[in-house]
Amino acid sequence: MSVIPKLKGGEFLITKVDVQDVFIPEEFDEQTNMIAQTCQDFLDTEIFPNLERIDHQEEGLMASLLKKAGELGLLGLAVPEEYGGFEQPFLTVMRANEVLGAAHSYSVAIMAHTGIGTLPILYYGNDEQRAKYIPSLSSGDLMAAYCLTEPGAGSDANSGRTKAVPSADGTHYILNGQKMWITNGGFADVQTVFAKIENDRVLSAFIVERKWDGVSMNPEEKKMGIKGSSTRQIFYNDVKVPAENLLGKRGEGFRIALNILHLGRIKLGATVVGGAKRAILHSVNYANERRQFGKAIAEFGAIKHKLAQQVVRTFATESAIYRASKDIQDNIAMMKSQGIEHGRANIEGVADYAIECALLKVYGSEALDFVVDEAVQIYGGMGFSSETPVDRAYRDSRINRIFEGTNEINRLLAVDTLLKKGMKNEISLFEQARIACESRHEAASLTNKGYFETKEAVVENLKKAALMLIPGISEAFGRKLADEEEILMNLSDMLMQIYGLESTMLRVKKLEQMKGGEYAAIYRDILDVLTHDVASAVLKAGKDAMVSFLPQEAVEDHVVALNKLCNIPAVNVKDSRRRIADKLIEENRYCF
Ligand SMILES: Cc1cc2nc3c(=O)[nH]c(=O)nc-3n(C[C@H](O)[C@H](O)[C@H](O)COP(=O)(O)OP(=O)(O)OC[C@H]3O[C@@H](n4cnc5c(N)ncnc54)[C@H](O)[C@@H]3O)c2cc1C
Repeated sequence: MSVIPKLKGGEFLITKVDVQDVFIPEEFDEQTNMIAQTCQDFLDTEIFPNLERIDHQEEGLMASLLKKAGELGLLGLAVPEEYGGFEQPFLTVMRANEVLGAAHSYSVAIMAHTGIGTLPILYYGNDEQRAKYIPSLSSGDLMAAYCLTEPGAGSDANSGRTKAVPSADGTHYILNGQKMWITNGGFADVQTVFAKIENDRVLSAFIVERKWDGVSMNPEEKKMGIKGSSTRQIFYNDVKVPAENLLGKRGEGFRIALNILHLGRIKLGATVVGGAKRAILHSVNYANERRQFGKAIAEFGAIKHKLAQQVVRTFATESAIYRASKDIQDNIAMMKSQGIEHGRANIEGVADYAIECALLKVYGSEALDFVVDEAVQIYGGMGFSSETPVDRAYRDSRINRIFEGTNEINRLLAVDTLLKKGMKNEISLFEQARIACESRHEAASLTNKGYFETKEAVVENLKKAALMLIPGISEAFGRKLADEEEILMNLSDMLMQIYGLESTMLRVKKLEQMKGGEYAAIYRDILDVLTHDVASAVLKAGKDAMVSFLPQEAVEDHVVALNKLCNIPAVNVKDSRRRIADKLIEENRYCF
């Protein structure tokens, strides 16, 4: 039986969600937990002991470790059984991604292979293409890469110059061009290469094999981090690509590229949670062990503050990722029940949530960067030493803000997509925004309410704070709004903060219903700290936006309204943070 998703993509901003309608990670079933454990055992035995060797790019090591994952079935979690996979639900695949996300360069390699490498063929390939490539990609007999970026075409991906010219007899294309920054490039046997056919304006996609004449590559890039991940430039010189290796239709490549990236983004949001949990493990282990001034540094308030903030941001990202993933999973199931074919249901099921995918890619990657930065600080001088694990965590985290679309591009994309959905009346954004703007001085009351009712009122007010900007910016800039990137980024910041807070609030509320108040007390602390941080972040971003577009005479009125909407009841967040840190310190591992 299919479940209808409770929210359409982007609708979170204008709709109140009931706690029963969200999924929380504490609800994972036994099968998912077993798969997660298999991933964890695999990392503990095969990957973590070999991180140094992986970073030195020992000949053949990465490919052989990917093959081992294939033997365990970990490369085929999203692949249907008919192609040798295990076809797990979206949420289960995301949970596996989270665990594997702790594996530094290996994580990048396996995600590129199973995601952007394999999925274009799985979702857009025809029966023959799928039958030819997917079983070997799922078993690890073949490795995959996704070749979009070029020296002159990064964020502006459709501007690539790689060209495919059909042969006179129509049997093949002649491919010429250069790709750059290709993950798994050094060993990927199968490459999805995006190129323009003749003088087309948009890209097409081709399945290219590395062994074909004319495919060559540069040596490995020397990188700041993820040193074990293979990253190459690849050249295509008069490569003869059989006509049957065109993926999808002519001119469909850009759409394929973008749709695959939506998926890559939400996956990245899950992997960074795994990375963050591991960095917190190292942080607390070290804080408990390292002694200064006669005691463990974990006993100092400043260190507790850092540990608690690491937990709060990780917990919020995790809550948001699985909430969005469940909506996506329901959407895919609904499409399939309507007779939509597997590949299309999967790809379009995710694309409907492009806003959430973009926001969570940014939210998660910035949370991980914060967590690893504080991990280095907790380690002090040792954090700067290559002998400790946080050095690698710090270097490896940084790439997440750059690939799968930079965080700037994703911030802009999220707001652009939201406004377009509003304009097309797919969601009633502009009507709600008009109401929010007109009633901006009416904030939901925060007094005489229970704990969660108050939090719900806070979320409602913060949503209004974001919504009230929309009529003003649309009016002020009209079609030129896309040029006002600073303001769009402010709005994007507000959206991701609100989504993170609402998801965490719903999770804590559900947890309390499931397990009782005593159990959930520490989670209330997390929620209190997050609410405090989010209210200030939304206020700051909102003010930045307002002073940037409102006429002087209107600014004060709007800022007064914004201040009221971002007002929250005072909570002693120092004490909340100390309780969160104390729990972490006592358990000496991530335990939330
Ligand atoms: C280690 C690594 C692995 C990668 N793996 C792959 C892969 O497997 N396959 C693949 O195809 N690509 C891959 N990439 C490429 C990656 O996706 C691009 O680097 C990324 O999309 C950014 O493109 P760029 O580097 O050309 O930066 P640019 O597009 O030149 O951007 C430079 C800066 O300008 C900003 N900017 C650009 N346009 C705008 C705009 N319109 N508005 C505001 N700001 C803007 C960017 O946000 C960024 O801050 C990888 C990159 C790296 C570093």
